[in-house]
Amino acid sequence: MARYTEALCRLCRREGEKLFMKGDRCYTEKCAIERRKYPPGQHGQGRGKLSDYGVHLREKQKVRRIYGLLERQFRKSFAEAERRKGVTGEVLLQLLELRLDNAVYRMGFASNRREARQLVTHCHIKVNDRNVNIPSYTLKVGDVVEIKESSRSLNTINENITKAEHRGIPSWIEADAANFRGKLLDLPSREEIQLPVQEQLIVELYSK
Ligand code: SF4
Repeated sequence: MARYTEALCRLCRREGEKLFMKGDRCYTEKCAIERRKYPPGQHGQGRGKLSDYGVHLREKQKVRRIYGLLERQFRKSFAEAERRKGVTGEVLLQLLELRLDNAVYRMGFASNRREARQLVTHCHIKVNDRNVNIPSYTLKVGDVVEIKESSRSLNTINENITKAEHRGIPSWIEADAANFRGKLLDLPSREEIQLPVQEQLIVELYSK
């Protein structure tokens, strides 16, 4: 499976804000954005004002990078959002939040979405008592996600659960850390997703 392999902090610096892709490190002063808040590369500090297209493009890239998706995967989610009822930009964010890898992260079993994706692909996750190893699997209201019994002793998962307390669990998810389980209580509303993005710019970009 294709995936992005370059330095993650460069992506945050390119977008000019924290995308929280490295777990605990993102909350410390070691975060690259804290130390160098300008785009990477030789001309990073000399870049001028963005064009209108650039503003739209950067917003799309930011969301795509937050969820760790390649362009093709992101386009597919956008196409699905367009097919569904509702405001396309909001539906897009909702679909991204309903991905299994994102839910595993939101439930606190992983310190970032990349790690959550690895837990899924390495078969540590069950949905409604069935093994699921597809990160893009779309959850439905009422679905129960849990760590497989044989994986519950993994140090990383236990450490992540403890550390996730400072991050908090979204209101649309019920997390039961003691039983390594979480349930999707409702579809997330735009307010509950709490991402500093202007999704309308993405819709406009793809409509050009
Ligand atoms: Fe981004 Fe985290 Fe790296 Fe900071 S530490 S630049 S938030 S990936």
